[in-house]
Amino acid sequence: MALPPDLPAEPSERVAYLVDVLREHNAAYYERDAPTIPDADYDELARELRRLEEAHPDLAVADSPATATVGGAPSAAFAEVVHRVPMTSLDNAMDVGELRAWGDRTARKVESLGLDPSAVRYVCELKIDGLAMSIRYEGGRYTQAATRGNGRVGEDVTPNVAGIDVVPKQLSADADEAGAPEVVEVRGEVYLPLDAFEALNASQEAAGKPRYANPRNTAAGSLRQKDASVTAERGLMFWSYQLGEVVGGPEVETHSAALDWLRTLGFPVNPETRVVDSLDAVYEFCAHWTEHRHDLPYEIDGIVVKVDSLAVQSALGFTSKAPRWAIAFKLPPEERTTLLRDIAVSIGGKGKATPFAVLEPVQVAGSTVGLATLHNEDQVALKDVRPGDTVIVRKAGDVIPEVVGPVLAMRPPDSQPWVFPSVCPCPHRSPLVRLEGEAKHQCVNIACPEQRWGRISHFASRGAMDIDGLGEKQVQLFIELGLLNNVADIYSLDFERILEHRGYKETSVNKLRAAIEASKQRPLANLLFGLTIPHVGSSGAEALAEGLGSLQELMDASEADIAAVEGIGPTIASAVVKFFANAENRTLVERLVAAGVNTQGPERSTLPQVLAGMAVVVTGGLEGFTRESVEAAIKARGGKSPGSVSKKTTAVVVGNDPGASKLTKATDLGIPVLDEAQFVHLLETGELPQ
Ligand code: NAD
Repeated sequence: MALPPDLPAEPSERVAYLVDVLREHNAAYYERDAPTIPDADYDELARELRRLEEAHPDLAVADSPATATVGGAPSAAFAEVVHRVPMTSLDNAMDVGELRAWGDRTARKVESLGLDPSAVRYVCELKIDGLAMSIRYEGGRYTQAATRGNGRVGEDVTPNVAGIDVVPKQLSADADEAGAPEVVEVRGEVYLPLDAFEALNASQEAAGKPRYANPRNTAAGSLRQKDASVTAERGLMFWSYQLGEVVGGPEVETHSAALDWLRTLGFPVNPETRVVDSLDAVYEFCAHWTEHRHDLPYEIDGIVVKVDSLAVQSALGFTSKAPRWAIAFKLPPEERTTLLRDIAVSIGGKGKATPFAVLEPVQVAGSTVGLATLHNEDQVALKDVRPGDTVIVRKAGDVIPEVVGPVLAMRPPDSQPWVFPSVCPCPHRSPLVRLEGEAKHQCVNIACPEQRWGRISHFASRGAMDIDGLGEKQVQLFIELGLLNNVADIYSLDFERILEHRGYKETSVNKLRAAIEASKQRPLANLLFGLTIPHVGSSGAEALAEGLGSLQELMDASEADIAAVEGIGPTIASAVVKFFANAENRTLVERLVAAGVNTQGPERSTLPQVLAGMAVVVTGGLEGFTRESVEAAIKARGGKSPGSVSKKTTAVVVGNDPGASKLTKATDLGIPVLDEAQFVHLLETGELPQ
């Protein structure tokens, strides 16, 4: 984000403005766990204030949010805890240049102490994106947990942190040998792993509630709950990375030894931590995790580099806000703000209408984001994003970019909620309908050019008209050549034009011609499935073809007639009627009929339905039947012929070489087993042998 347009130019006014907005953002972030701008935008404001303070030291306020104070005010909802050892923030390095500058400053200080700067070792740790916690143990027992608050006074969240499984409640007995501490305060990060975050969002979605924006804010919100049982359900975790007050315990001389001791006490210490002996190795660590941050099952927003020697640490000391012996190397931001220029709708291959955000292009996580899906009408309403809003865009790893929500403070006064368009964006402007019980809208006009490719490919695919040589690629090519606009055009394809196209040989054109001709003989069910009528899958198409007998009858049928067909519910019935009510759909279907496609359903049997309600399983070969004819014989008499034996099976017919498992199962379940002669008798009479 560029700095706000209303930022005053005059330095003292500019400082006052920045102090005010940063304080507001601190309150939203630390006190309400609900920031209104992304971290990267906040950091830009803080850096501008820092820059001004450096240029005009007289303008710096004593409690500057950029350089002097930590965090936010502790909430009155929790008791106060005074930190015996303050909890600080960290200075940031935004790039390798800033990291090097910190390394140089550290080296100079070490030299001024009469030490060898080349002997300095650094501990590299992942900067976990969660919230800082101080946990106190007395006599080895968990006694108190506190948030950082303003660094001096935090909030008492003892019952909440007690619900985090990985936080020990009793320190490990092994620690005795090393000397059990009388008091030990452990500092670390409470965070929400990505799988727990996803699970929480899945249940939000199922309940029709908005998704949580990101794991860090959700972790903070989950932890700072009045009702600690809510915290316990959220799946929070903890990594320890620092000591606070310690009374007793072993003498440690390095930060890495302190981490080892924390491990012995039973605290989780992040396994990716590395001790290195040069700044080059620090850069390598940073470069590695810049590349691999998404291989981790939790989010990080940087790398923390700490000087290992505790003696050097204490010589370097602290600024008013952060230690000089550590620096946070920030990873590229994954959330940015940008202008939502418009919300448009795209039409998918089968007519699904999906709203998407048209954004002022913005760099997020190393790539430019200009478009982002908004999923459906409900999601747009839940997020309350409107054209003209400044919105937060998030892109984490390979995940598709997402619009998190609007920055309400920047909403234009005349903004209006977005309304889902009632018509398709294509020139036909057919209605977009929201199907009952579904979140998606659909364009039901199969002539819609936006859907050409998806619909034609589906029509030609195996389960539908099964046209060999008319796969997705060929459909795309023929559309580009202007030869295909809709499914009916398949039957008047200009083969001469195809032949003119480079790469097409006469033999393949002839094959295609033959495959198209052969497709006219496909069963009616395949045709119906190929038409991409909403909700009509292959079994629904089969039920419609069998139940109504012909395309004409189906087109003339009322919703009630269709719903009366076995296997067809009211949703399909209503979708079918709507489909054929569309004049353009009817014209297309008429063209298909004129081209000679089969419009008749399977012949209705004239045989007595003696097997109605029966399920007859056949296993092994029979003398007088083929595999297909035996199934047809059962179905023609009203029976079913499933492929496996169950409690519902009426009889099992056994021929030569039967499947052993079917036979065993039939015997186990006490189902009658018939030979071929008994089966023929069953076909004639519907009676099982006594
Ligand atoms: P920070 O987050 O930059 O660094 C300090 C924190 O890092 C520590 O308190 C600790 O919680 C954490 N940390 C994680 N792993 C660590 C490790 N291995 N060792 C030590 N510490 C580790 O500083 P901060 O003062 O907590 O917060 C400032 C940042 O918070 C800003 O840079 C901004 O990104 C964000 N913020 C955003 C808003 C907003 O409105 N979006 C408002 C306030 C702050």
